[in-house]
Amino acid sequence: MSVTINENYLLLQDSYLFVEIAKRVAKFEEEYPEKEIIRMGIGDVTKPLVPAVIKAFKAAVDEMGDPETFKGYGPEQGYSFLAEAIVENDYKPLGVEIAIDEVFISDGAKCDSGNIQEIFDLNNIVAVTDPVYPVYVDTNVMAGRTQGVNDDGTYKGLVYLPATGENNFIPELPKTPVDLIYLCFPNNPTGTTLTKDELAKFVDYAKENDAIIIFDAAYESFITEKDVPHSIFEIEGAKEVAIEVKSYSKTAGFTGTRCAYTVVPKDLNVKDSKGELVEVNSLWNRRQTTKFNGVSYPVQKAAEAIYSDEGKKQIKENIDYYMENARIIKESLENIGLNVYGGVNSPYIWVKTPNNMKSWDFFDLLLNEANIVGTPGAGFGLSGEGYLRLTAFNTLENTKKAMKRIADLSF
Ligand SMILES: *Cc1c(COP(=O)(O)O)cnc(C)c1O
Repeated sequence: MSVTINENYLLLQDSYLFVEIAKRVAKFEEEYPEKEIIRMGIGDVTKPLVPAVIKAFKAAVDEMGDPETFKGYGPEQGYSFLAEAIVENDYKPLGVEIAIDEVFISDGAKCDSGNIQEIFDLNNIVAVTDPVYPVYVDTNVMAGRTQGVNDDGTYKGLVYLPATGENNFIPELPKTPVDLIYLCFPNNPTGTTLTKDELAKFVDYAKENDAIIIFDAAYESFITEKDVPHSIFEIEGAKEVAIEVKSYSKTAGFTGTRCAYTVVPKDLNVKDSKGELVEVNSLWNRRQTTKFNGVSYPVQKAAEAIYSDEGKKQIKENIDYYMENARIIKESLENIGLNVYGGVNSPYIWVKTPNNMKSWDFFDLLLNEANIVGTPGAGFGLSGEGYLRLTAFNTLENTKKAMKRIADLSF
């Protein structure tokens, strides 16, 4: 015997999207060094951490340098000061009761949404929306929950739920039985949301079919409309069928600081092969305590400061700034007759390409004619073809400049 690799990794498609974008932008820059490019493809925040966060962060670093207050390993699940702040501020105001030990603090929603599949059987059927945040798909491929790749790049065995202009970006319920359903609302990449009633249909489906929903609410803080759920647990009965993943990355500019959390309700039970119910919460606890040693103390203190009066006010100013950009993008593009989705409860604007252009053709047109970089929708899945994603994570000045450039084009 010699060592062999996990061949599931060989099924993964190259993450062609951002490599290809970088290649085309580099080529353009080489040919036209004098042109000023505006990057509207970025899925990363641009504003720095707010003062309240920095103050708490620095104070906690000082504590780490003092023998009286130094901290070694903390609880793998996170410090209770942060879990309590989460329960009090993110759930109580919604009328949702979450217990401290249902909250698992981590270093990212990417890791949590990628790792969570580990505690479920390999025979479970996975459903994802299309277009999709690639992490949900690739981590299930790595685990071996697919049986190969189709010619169109989709994976055999995965169930895709299209979300397009035709269904108003409300994915249909799975037509064939599924066990794990990944939902992300407000959505990346489309920027669209579900109402409470629409989300309730998925919760009801999960209850009727013994399925579980993994709900990624990374963009929750960008919601501006009333009927859009901030948490899946606002839906009656969701605690019996859902896990929720949240992150401070987009909410408070923590993309480089790293802090997030996952809520696994105690009411969530799944059958083992003998038909006996197992608490998912205790499995996730076991997984985290074995493979994870917690988020650093200063980062958790920094995250706690988001919930102070000052912190709340300051992060809201940043979110409002991005959302003003989103409003400008949406209105400017609508004014020139484009069909535009998202941008109301999310920093993402999903643009239908004019004249049924392919995503990459529209990408090239914007790059060459307006020197603007977007993200081709086709890179997020088959149903993303014919769309392009723009983001509000830019300066107001650049956003306005970019919209003027696009308005000057004729399609
Ligand atoms: C940005 C983003 C996250 C955040 O991931 P972190 O690891 O917490 O930075 C999670 N889900 C989606 C869909 C995202 O776009």
